[in-house]
Amino acid sequence: MKKIIITGGAGFIGSHLCRRLLQEGNEVICLDNFFTGTKSNIIDLMKNDYFEIIRHDVVNDIFIEADEIYHFACPASPVHYQYNPIKTMKTSILGTINMLGLAKRTRAKMLLASTSEVYGDPLVHPQKEEYWGNVNCTGIRSCYDEGKRAAETLMMDYHRQHKLDAKIIRIFNTYGPNMRPDDGRVVSNFIVQATNKKDITIYGDGSQTRSFCYVDDLVDGIIRMMNTENFTGPVNLGNPDEFTIRELAEKVLLLTKSSSKIIYEPLPSDDPKKRKPDISLAKTRLGWEPEIKLSEGLKKTIAYFQSGPGKAV
Ligand code: NAD
Ligand code: UDP
Repeated sequence: MKKIIITGGAGFIGSHLCRRLLQEGNEVICLDNFFTGTKSNIIDLMKNDYFEIIRHDVVNDIFIEADEIYHFACPASPVHYQYNPIKTMKTSILGTINMLGLAKRTRAKMLLASTSEVYGDPLVHPQKEEYWGNVNCTGIRSCYDEGKRAAETLMMDYHRQHKLDAKIIRIFNTYGPNMRPDDGRVVSNFIVQATNKKDITIYGDGSQTRSFCYVDDLVDGIIRMMNTENFTGPVNLGNPDEFTIRELAEKVLLLTKSSSKIIYEPLPSDDPKKRKPDISLAKTRLGWEPEIKLSEGLKKTIAYFQSGPGKAV
């Protein structure tokens, strides 16, 4: 039985990871300050004697033991990471330094949840890991993008300087149950709007693209990465099927049988025009590729939101 820390374990992806790693017979400690995560995402796990929740902010140090650390603590929705951008930067940088310190002291393996945002508004398409990105360091998304870039740097420096077993994944847009209805990201926004017969808000003209990965596929890739020896990454994890935001809106309207109308709002600044992962490295090194198509994943996510969390928000 491994002792595993999951920072951000009460959040969307973290809660799925907690569940899966407990099912696999591990002891799981969830560290979360509940900024965007909720107890309801993990409350059912409290029945398991091998699950523990510690209310903790990763910008402060903590002295506990672990064999593995999945470092996910950080707000991920633009609305949430821009709410207090200085705190977002502190979470990425100080939070990663603290968890790296813990990993160094306990000789734990540590995996960082980085992001496709390290590629910024990419000039290379699809994005390969070798691409260094096109990132604005002074814009409204910079607290998140540059914070994650610095976190990647720290991971690599601890790996080189202290021989830490470090692993970096770059997650592309992921969706599924346990997203907050007021999360502000596009999939949850469109589903909640369609379900509540509110206007569907497309930012810009909707021609910008994203590639959406269902959370179960992502969690498989994350665990494979942790269990693959002698591979630090960074590695892209995402679904390479690319859609315009307008196509996503039309799919959600069709699947929810909603009569909501589409309205257009201004595009936020630095919003990437295109995004699609090249997942050749994940295929070769992890034997991983996503299996769940967008329509199938959307149906499961719509069922989740319609079962309660998305009603009348
Ligand atoms: P989320 O907002 O649902 O989860 C983040 C969790 O971290 C929440 O439970 C929150 O309360 C916690 N947290 C935030 N700041 C903290 C702090 N200072 N101390 C302790 N806990 C803190 O977001 P998510 O979508 O589950 O994303 C999880 C991770 O994956 C993030 O690091 C994010 O950058 C990364 N990621 C996610 C996506 C995606 O599409 N979902 C894409 C790229 C990267
Ligand atoms: N978006 C939109 N309407 C919304 C929310 C988002 O058109 O209600 C757009 C957003 O401008 C971006 C894309 O959808 O182009 C994905 O946004 P999200 O916040 O989900 O993630 P991002 O990939 O931008 O971090």
